Amino acid sequence: MSEMRSEKFKKFNKVYLLEKQRIDSFKNWPYDEAADCSISKMAQAGFYWSGNKSDDDTVTCFVCGKTLHGWDPTDDPWKEHAKHAPQCQFVKYGHKEADLTVEEFLNIFSAVGMNKMMKDFNGIKSKFLAQASSEMEKCLMEKK
Ligand SMILES: [Zn+2]
Repeated sequence: MSEMRSEKFKKFNKVYLLEKQRIDSFKNWPYDEAADCSISKMAQAGFYWSGNKSDDDTVTCFVCGKTLHGWDPTDDPWKEHAKHAPQCQFVKYGHKEADLTVEEFLNIFSAVGMNKMMKDFNGIKSKFLAQASSEMEKCLMEKK
C-alpha cells in the first residue's frame, strides 16, 4: 500500500463504519457489559466513543453524527438513538451490522460518505465566508 493510500485508509478508519472499530473507540465507559448501555450494545446501535477524561459517557453515531451523553445503565441505546435522531438511516434499518443486507450496508456506507462530505463542505464554506467578510471589511475600510 502506498503512503497516500494508507493515509486515506487511516482517515476512512475514523468514520467508524465497522462495529469492531466502534467497540475499539471506547477508552473509558462508566458501565460494564451487564448494563443495557454496555460498550458492545452502544457499538451495535451505531455509537462510537467521543468522550474524554472528564466526560466519559459521550458517544456519537457514525452515520448521523448525533452526539449523546448522560447515559443511565438502563438506557437502551437503540431507543435513545431513535428518540434523538429518528432521521438516521441506521436507526431506520434498526438492526445490528451482522443483520444488515448488502444493499442496506451500501446505503449506510453512502449515507456516511454524504454526511462526511457535507461536514467537510460546511467547514470549507464557513472558512470561506469568514475570509470573504474580513476581505469585504478591509475594502470598506479602505474606501472611507
Ligand atoms: Zn444515527
